[in-house]
Amino acid sequence: MKTELRETLVIGAGAAGLNCALHLPAGSDVLVVCKGGLKESDSFLAQGGICVLHDEGDAESYFEDTMRAGHYENDPATVRCMIEHSRATIDELISFGVRFAREENGELAYTREGAHSRPRIVFHADCTGREITSRLLSAAQKRTNIELRPYTTMVDLLFAEDGCCGAVLRDNRTHELTLVYAGNTVLATGGVGGLFAHSTNYRILTGDGVGAAVFHGVAADHLDYVQIHPTTLYAKGRGRRFLISESVRGEGAHLLNAAGERFVDELLPRDVVTAAIRREMAREGSEYVRLDLSSVRGGERTLEKHFPGILRRLKKEGLRVPEEPVPVVPAQHYFMGGVRSDLFGRTTAPHLYAVGETCCNGVHGKNRLASNSLLEAIIFARRAAEDIAAGSRATGRAAWDIPPRRLAAMLRERREFVTKETHHESE
Ligand SMILES: Cc1cc2nc3c(=O)[nH]c(=O)nc-3n(C[C@H](O)[C@H](O)[C@H](O)COP(=O)(O)OP(=O)(O)OC[C@H]3O[C@@H](n4cnc5c(N)ncnc54)[C@H](O)[C@@H]3O)c2cc1C
Repeated sequence: MKTELRETLVIGAGAAGLNCALHLPAGSDVLVVCKGGLKESDSFLAQGGICVLHDEGDAESYFEDTMRAGHYENDPATVRCMIEHSRATIDELISFGVRFAREENGELAYTREGAHSRPRIVFHADCTGREITSRLLSAAQKRTNIELRPYTTMVDLLFAEDGCCGAVLRDNRTHELTLVYAGNTVLATGGVGGLFAHSTNYRILTGDGVGAAVFHGVAADHLDYVQIHPTTLYAKGRGRRFLISESVRGEGAHLLNAAGERFVDELLPRDVVTAAIRREMAREGSEYVRLDLSSVRGGERTLEKHFPGILRRLKKEGLRVPEEPVPVVPAQHYFMGGVRSDLFGRTTAPHLYAVGETCCNGVHGKNRLASNSLLEAIIFARRAAEDIAAGSRATGRAAWDIPPRRLAAMLRERREFVTKETHHESE
């Protein structure tokens, strides 16, 4: 088995993993691995946008909206930290080349989603995640200290007496295992949607970071806090579901039952709208409800300008929009629980960090406010990088070397755990 030594190992190449790598010192040796291709992450799928503090007067209202959506189970200090750093984060993304929609006068344009008391979401048409993450990816590709290694799966974490010391990686094509010993290891493995029959997430996202952390006794919180998105395009069979962004409702689309009547305020928090849709489906005995795009403010012009990707997909499915309502159904979307982490992404295990959807730092509470996740992932990934840079740990493979027999037993035990624990499906 091959071994490698790195200063930092980042597991996951979504917005969280990439932004962490980009904020590690330019002279440090960083390996970023991901299970699929470099563009196969939920960060690339984000449609609606990314939140930002609209102006100083918005601070209390943004805080209250986030807390209310999270059923006040959020950690207030983490929420405040995110809000405080939001404007500088958007400015930094712009400096990376990210293009957000602008008004005619050149000012940033803001849209609105459910449970936001005012528009405070900046966006790039309906593919904000692709715009942001592709810029982060190309910045990382230009950095000589960062190696990006796709099709590489973390199968286990490695621990020494003083904390985490890397991970066991498998090359998905050759199946070869490599032990990567690292001074610090960052879990940025995204969500859990791949464990569900119906989800908007990439199928490869199966909660691997959380699974490995829990297996080694690292604290994790709220593993049952899973967000269901109210409006995904209805489809028969299993597989990834196509999301109809909440900002479509934010711009005026209505939810209708079979009789063509509205049955819920479309801009209530996601869990409330989802519950209302399910009640309506049960009452009618139907498999979906309908999303009427004809009520979107500005009509087809708004749809074409703000939601070109969604429009294209719906037309490809043979739907005549906006005349014909779109059949929609709730599906798994986001994971609020995860590996317990603090304001700097630190977990309960020394030298192991968790950022992005894999972590639970308290920002989202019981239910995430729309468009807070990209922001949270990007901000706390940067803070984790800064914490890693501020600390020092001598990287010494000799001290961490794991005897081959112990390694074989460890991998066997982990394989049994994975087989037993992760084969459940719902939703
Ligand atoms: C359809 C859709 C629309 C969304 N819209 C929005 C939106 O408008 N605004 C918003 O704020 N949020 C949105 N979200 C949520 C947001 O996109 C995600 O929460 C966020 O991008 C998560 O970023 P991440 O870096 O933590 O994870 P991801 O971007 O999912 O990246 C996870 C990475 O981990 C890697 N990985 C996983 N397991 C392993 C393993 N075992 N070994 C190695 N690598 C591994 C994957 O290959 C991937 O590179 C949306 C999500 C979806 C699915």
